[in-house]
Amino acid sequence: ARQCFHALKLVKRDSLSSTHIARCASTATVPRITTHYTIHPRDKDKRWEGVNMERFAEEADVVIVGAGPAGLSAAIRLKQLAAEHSKEIRVCLVEKASQIGAHTLSGACLEPRSLQELFPDWKERGAPLNTPVTEDKFGILTKKYRIPVPILPGLPMVNHGNYIVRLGHFVSWLGEQAEALGVEVYPGYAAAEVLFHEDGSVKGIATNDVGIQKDGAPKATFERGLELHAKVTIFAEGCHGHLAKQLYKKYNLREKCQPQSYGIGLKELWTIDEKKWKPGRVEHTVGWPLDRHTYGGSFLYHLNEGEPLVALGFVVGLDYQNPYLNPFREFQRWKHHPSVQPTLEGGTRIAYGARALNEGGFQSIPKLAFPGGLLIGCSPGLMNVPKIKGTHTAMKSGMLASEAIFSQLINENLQSKTIGLDVQEYEENLKKSWVWKELYAVRNIRPSCHSVLGVYGGMIYTGIFYWLLRGKEPWTLKHPG
Ligand SMILES: Cc1cc2nc3c(=O)[nH]c(=O)nc-3n(C[C@H](O)[C@H](O)[C@H](O)COP(=O)(O)OP(=O)(O)OC[C@H]3O[C@@H](n4cnc5c(N)ncnc54)[C@H](O)[C@@H]3O)c2cc1C
Repeated sequence: ARQCFHALKLVKRDSLSSTHIARCASTATVPRITTHYTIHPRDKDKRWEGVNMERFAEEADVVIVGAGPAGLSAAIRLKQLAAEHSKEIRVCLVEKASQIGAHTLSGACLEPRSLQELFPDWKERGAPLNTPVTEDKFGILTKKYRIPVPILPGLPMVNHGNYIVRLGHFVSWLGEQAEALGVEVYPGYAAAEVLFHEDGSVKGIATNDVGIQKDGAPKATFERGLELHAKVTIFAEGCHGHLAKQLYKKYNLREKCQPQSYGIGLKELWTIDEKKWKPGRVEHTVGWPLDRHTYGGSFLYHLNEGEPLVALGFVVGLDYQNPYLNPFREFQRWKHHPSVQPTLEGGTRIAYGARALNEGGFQSIPKLAFPGGLLIGCSPGLMNVPKIKGTHTAMKSGMLASEAIFSQLINENLQSKTIGLDVQEYEENLKKSWVWKELYAVRNIRPSCHSVLGVYGGMIYTGIFYWLLRGKEPWTLKHPG
């Protein structure tokens, strides 16, 4: 028996060491997830020896990262204020997409409140809001049936007064307005690095280097990025921006909030049979193919853009419990539901994509202002989660940020403690605005979906506490986990 035991130990040791070798060998062949120099410093990499790393620097008053609804509204508001006060300010905006709006992916049903505040004459200016909502439908899906749910006035799902838009077109239009006002818009430039002053405040950003091989080595065409320095840098990267993540750490911005949670939104654009096309119709569903413990649902919007177009999509909370669930497959299954399939039959999918969404809501909003910088829009997660709407809140946050920045820029008696301006008024003003009230009122809806009743528990909670009390219940639910 002793000999057997000894033999077994030897076998185990041999097999362990061979597994270890196999593991080492496999990690050696796995490519690096990123070769970015902020993760793999170039000064320790021989391939970069002797490469000229000098960068040109430009000075602006305000630099904005990201030309989404938030960044563009901020840029526009700054220039509007400068014009009203006859001041010259330099506003530079960098966008990683090759064209403004090219990386935008949304639903989108737009609440025009912020647009109305930004451009009261948006209709005369030709804003591409071509489809007012005329019909609002909500349903619970079972495998075979659709149970209609009445949309009572005051519920988050009410869409009357809103517009169905192609958000990419709307963003592109905002870009034109910004340029007309004198904003320097730089599409095709990603902000790759946050720059800091010696006192720790944000100095600006550096745009991405170009001419780098996949493995991180410089090509013969290598060119260094550009530094953009500013008194204040606005970060408007949208959900899960990589610069915002660095800032959270550097300034401990998430110290007092709950962790952010995320969802994935899959979206397609179809041209359909004209007979099935109902411009202005908005449809949402919950239920099948998701079980009640998986947060998510669908949208189907009939656009009026000169051809029979529908925008459809499926959002799934990424805290789903079934590790085998595949959000994309669930979306495909949903399209085959008897209440959905007839609309798409005979149609053609002309575009598709996916984008992350913030789902933490009010509880997960970090600190928004820090020396030299501000976070706006979906970057810090200012989205109304049950409505799946964040464009109007993103725009308003950008406008409020600019108003606070502008009052510091023109304050001749301003004595800043840091080289980069610390615009705390932005956060204070946001807390006094309708954005804060709106996000506070819906704060408990998403976490209420974690009871035994799942999503249906959330619907009951919404009926009682949101519809009747407008979110005034004196408690705030936590996100689980
Ligand atoms: C599937 C889906 C459906 C939605 N439906 C609706 C809806 O019906 N109604 C509604 O109001 N909202 C909806 N939303 C949410 C809405 O799209 C967002 O709230 C809104 O786009 C947020 O605007 P933003 O400017 O903060 O961010 P974004 O729109 O994400 O814009 C950020 C911009 O920054 C750029 N960027 C990011 N990082 C960098 C960098 N380092 N350097 C340079 N540029 C950078 C990006 O390319 C992008 O253009 C939906 C979202 C999804 C995903």
